[in-house]
Amino acid sequence: MNKTENIWVNGRLVAWDQAQVHVATHALHYGSSVFEGIRAYETGNGSAIFCLDQHVDRLFTSAKVYRMEIPYTKEEIRQAIIDTVRANKHRACYIRPLVFRGLGALGVNPQACQVEVAIITIEWGRYLGPEAIEQGVDVGISSWQRMAPNTFPAAAKIGGQYINSQLIAMEAAEHGYAEGIALDSNGFVSEGSGENIFVVRNGSILTPPLASSILQGVTRNCVITLAEDLDHQVREELIPREALYMADEVFFTGTAAEITPIRSVDHISIGNGHRGPVTGRLQTEFFGITGGQIPDRHGWLTPVS
Ligand code: PMP
Repeated sequence: MNKTENIWVNGRLVAWDQAQVHVATHALHYGSSVFEGIRAYETGNGSAIFCLDQHVDRLFTSAKVYRMEIPYTKEEIRQAIIDTVRANKHRACYIRPLVFRGLGALGVNPQACQVEVAIITIEWGRYLGPEAIEQGVDVGISSWQRMAPNTFPAAAKIGGQYINSQLIAMEAAEHGYAEGIALDSNGFVSEGSGENIFVVRNGSILTPPLASSILQGVTRNCVITLAEDLDHQVREELIPREALYMADEVFFTGTAAEITPIRSVDHISIGNGHRGPVTGRLQTEFFGITGGQIPDRHGWLTPVS
């Protein structure tokens, strides 16, 4: 990770090396944070932040579920994100707003701790490797399942929950896979450690419902919209594991992973083992809009300058 010049911390821009926390910070001990991952793209007409409002909304709903009061308004956070991207003179970048419980108590109950906010921006390329977008990735089903609905609120993007994602990601890497797919507590397909998943079969597009312990991805919502623009119906449905092996196409969506084809699951080839036509058409729309070659018909881009 390369340093950037500025990090926004509690209302002001500070130098990278100054953006530090105390070791008694509650979030370090108990994962008491909520966060977002957002991308800014070079559109050919300056950089623009993708789905900024949707991400800021999710940050606030994650905080609400976790009973955390963010000491800024949505508009202030939105502006702070734009200011940080601008201050670091990024053309394209990954943006990480982080809200965390700081000092105040070492006990488990976090309510005595102050709530702090940071916004980090970094240059970041293809999350699952440079060839992944065209060639697709090889993945495996994880032996770790996603959290059951009555254990953690999977739809809220809470730091501590990412221990589950880390276990999935580390196991996948140990097995030589680019990523792992977790099943939900009933054995249906849930999602990757940091991506939602879509399955294409006989022209129909399926994706797991919120009840399968998924994060309701911003990219997932955009891909559903783009699929509908292309006259495909997307159904949110429980997906058994074998539906992945039987699919014509499978792909991941996520801010980091964008739209990444999956070419094999558990060493079983998906379709003909190459990016399929539906995935290709969705990528053309997605990268066309984010790259500024296709008009932003859904109003997803916020110019930085
Ligand atoms: N699921 C998980 C567990 C994630 O961490 C992410 C990345 N935020 C996603 C799905 C995809 O969500 P989004 O499209 O909003 O980035």
